[in-house]
Amino acid sequence: MTNILVINAGSSSLKYQLIDIDTESVIAKGICERIGIPGSLLSYKPADGEKFEKQQDMKDHKDAIQMVLEVLADREIGVISDMSSIAAVGHRVLHGGEKYSEPVLINDEVLAAIEECIPLGPLHNPANLMGIRGCMAVMPGVPMVAVFDTAWGQSMAKAAYMYGLPYEAYEKFKVRRYGFHGTSHRYVTGRAIAHLEKTGLPREKARVITCHLGNGSSVSCSLGGKCVDTSMGLTPLEGPPMGTRCGSIDPAIVPFLMEKLGLTPSEMDTYMNKKSGMLGISGVSSDFRDLDAASRSGNERAELALQMFAYKVKQYIGSYAAALNGVDAIVFTAGVGENDRRMREMILKDMEFLGLDVDFQYNQDCPRGEEVELSRKGSRVHVYVIPTDEEMTIARDTAALAL
Ligand code: ADP
Repeated sequence: MTNILVINAGSSSLKYQLIDIDTESVIAKGICERIGIPGSLLSYKPADGEKFEKQQDMKDHKDAIQMVLEVLADREIGVISDMSSIAAVGHRVLHGGEKYSEPVLINDEVLAAIEECIPLGPLHNPANLMGIRGCMAVMPGVPMVAVFDTAWGQSMAKAAYMYGLPYEAYEKFKVRRYGFHGTSHRYVTGRAIAHLEKTGLPREKARVITCHLGNGSSVSCSLGGKCVDTSMGLTPLEGPPMGTRCGSIDPAIVPFLMEKLGLTPSEMDTYMNKKSGMLGISGVSSDFRDLDAASRSGNERAELALQMFAYKVKQYIGSYAAALNGVDAIVFTAGVGENDRRMREMILKDMEFLGLDVDFQYNQDCPRGEEVELSRKGSRVHVYVIPTDEEMTIARDTAALAL
């Protein structure tokens, strides 16, 4: 048994999974919430045990990690004897700028680089650093690896990642497309290529479009497993409209609405990130299940939000098929992509011109939580649903570098 602890630290939360990398199984997982806020809560679930919750103040991420280690090694409900049986820690880190295109073993230089990228990831990078530093404080000497969400996008050509702004915006302020959800796109692309190879297609020729559709959504495309383009940009705001994010809009709308609504830059940022998208259009919810229910009971704006989402994702698929000069596989993943059958149908219908022959009945009937192919035999393009597994990918990366 070789245990890897995977940490995803947010500003006031910390998600964790303990993974046995020898068997690639999750031994326990959970989340610390309200870190630094009164009423902190730890939840914990061993793979074959009851869910456990404990309320205890955690003043910072170090306290949170201390509590996680205590519960993991608890005599009654724990899964390990003590901390020394954790071989390495893998950290999800949002932004690695242009410096990291691969996971990396954490040292002082890496910490400094993550710090340098704070202007590009002002909410996430400081939280990620707190998670890493908290772990270093309570687990001295244990090797740690950073896996960057932006690493996947680093293989894009300059023509794909530059914006049509004066060049100084890139040179002085690093304004360019970075893309996010990279670990997920990389994982599902790898799985799709494994399926394509069985059909005789060599890896280096595989043209894959991956649709990570969840609360946040991004579409990406790759050739031979290397990202060619991706819909999120300098920030995760670009792309299809999302749960609460507006997605791509005419940039001139920003100053126009700031003036009309009298908003500061930071208020405008909140308007676009938290009040827009599915929630803003429908006025109902950011959750696709709620939207589906509302639309079935006749709510036109909920239906409009769903139609807009499907239309945009379809447009990305079309434009990426053009960028790749064709497509061999389209993959759906994440909360909506894995579960929302109607949304998949809305996106995939009327796409025969691309070479898609989809079994829409199977799209309705296929099992959840496993890899399935929705395209019929003979379809030129393979369509897969592949459950994403970012934590396992981080654990594998960590094992490869740290053990
Ligand atoms: P996040 O971006 O927060 O990681 P997820 O990938 O977990 O998001 O996706 C969350 C979204 O998935 C929810 O907002 C919900 O709309 C959608 N979702 C989850 N299960 C279903 C389902 N059975 N049917 C439709 N939508 C679903």
